[in-house]
Amino acid sequence: MAKSTSYVPDIERLQKVRKMPLVKLIAEVANLKQRETYIIGGFVRDTLIGRAVKDIDVVTLGSGIELAQEVAKELGKAEVHVFKNFGTAMIKKGDFELEFVGARKESYRSNSRKPIVENGTLKEDQERRDFTINALAISLNGDLGELVDPFNGFEDLKAGIIRTPLDPDRTYSDDPLRMMRAIRFASQLGFEIETKSYESIKVNAHRLSIVSQERITDELNKIILSEKPSVGFKLLDSTGILEMIFPEFVALKGVEKRNGLSHKDNFFHTLQVLDNICPNTDDLYLRWSAIMHDIAKPSTKRFQPGVGWTFHGHEVRGARMIPGIFRRMKLPLDMKMKYVQKLVNLHLRPIALTKESITDSAIRRLLFDAGDDIEDLMTLCRADITSKNDGKVKRYLQNYGLVQEKLIELEEKDRIRNWQPPISGQEIMEYFGLGPCRDIGTIKTALKDAILDGIIPNDSDSAQAFMKEKGEELGLRPKK
Ligand code: ATP
Ligand code: MG
Repeated sequence: MAKSTSYVPDIERLQKVRKMPLVKLIAEVANLKQRETYIIGGFVRDTLIGRAVKDIDVVTLGSGIELAQEVAKELGKAEVHVFKNFGTAMIKKGDFELEFVGARKESYRSNSRKPIVENGTLKEDQERRDFTINALAISLNGDLGELVDPFNGFEDLKAGIIRTPLDPDRTYSDDPLRMMRAIRFASQLGFEIETKSYESIKVNAHRLSIVSQERITDELNKIILSEKPSVGFKLLDSTGILEMIFPEFVALKGVEKRNGLSHKDNFFHTLQVLDNICPNTDDLYLRWSAIMHDIAKPSTKRFQPGVGWTFHGHEVRGARMIPGIFRRMKLPLDMKMKYVQKLVNLHLRPIALTKESITDSAIRRLLFDAGDDIEDLMTLCRADITSKNDGKVKRYLQNYGLVQEKLIELEEKDRIRNWQPPISGQEIMEYFGLGPCRDIGTIKTALKDAILDGIIPNDSDSAQAFMKEKGEELGLRPKK
């Protein structure tokens, strides 16, 4: 994979850091207390490549907590949050989050995941970091802002390379999450993973099984939120990690051919849909909807002679697969999951509205079912067009244009989006003196349909009359 980064690192950007009042203040305290102190990691990396960054990690020889307390005194009212178990302290100052830690050395034993942590030198602290580009430090003593870069991280930043400071087998086996992080940075920054590292990830991929799902999902979400997530997904796939953490996605792979008829490769199609949606949304769960939209295609695939490949009901089955996947991934099982389910469920609806069937009734139903998520649904559907046939693409887009116009027109006229029928289920139950049962459901649905289809007007009197009539048909009597 060629480096495709748009980031150009520039050492001159460190000038700005030197002038930051917050940095100057930390440096003054450090020098006054004669503490060897550095800013390290993500802040240095992101500053050099010109990415905005608000987290500043400060590493000092000796106690990080003590230094944080001294800095807080100078800052006035700043509160220090101390995490004794980790030996770290955090200060919030405006938009900035300062994290203080003592330089440490970590040694891992093969029989335990927990490292032995001891005080260490800066070099030892840099060695335990995951990548050379994350091990860059700037000195706050002497020549303020001098880059301390024993592993040539700056060169790697320029070349767009993800490389571990130590032997990759050691770095990845010490903390297997670093494999996910390597792929995450490759996807976020458009960097290339150095060959030895890449090979080591393939070999060590199975070790991810000892990492908590929360940490894995955090990194996966960062890949999904990157500019071109397919980069990360392809790496997850080729290293064998995707099969471990998301086998349903891998199952989308492949093309089958029968009687000269084939279907598209749904793995690559889905990745393209995901990339397509990114310029139009930064919403994690809309992006998850793109990932999930065809997830049930493998299990609904049939070959019908004379017709070809079909995936009937994949939208419904796909929506049903989501809770299981979300639970396993420790993704939220609340409204956000329901939202993904809803979009997956509805993703074929707009395209099913061909020119002839773009009736007011069909549009009203779509508006009713999608509610406030209608725009997101249309964004998903647009991203779903991945045909190489220009004519088809044009036709689909024109069709969506028509649907969109109609949606706006009808919503202005009828306000269906957040519409509720004029009689609620509760009122129907009270009228007939019944509890929740099938007949009540039947009346409720029939009433909704009658109004959405324009058979009766959307008002209370008509709804009352309709309810009574329908009840009679079902043999129900009003409660006296
Ligand atoms: P981002 O903030 O964008 O998630 P980051 O690199 O800043 O990326 P943080 O989790 O903020 O990541 O960690 C700060 C620094 O701590 C990193 O730059 C790296 O030096 C070190 N680090 C974080 N996680 C690990 C890890 N699993 N193994 C080794 N070093 C790590
Ligand atoms: Mg960070």
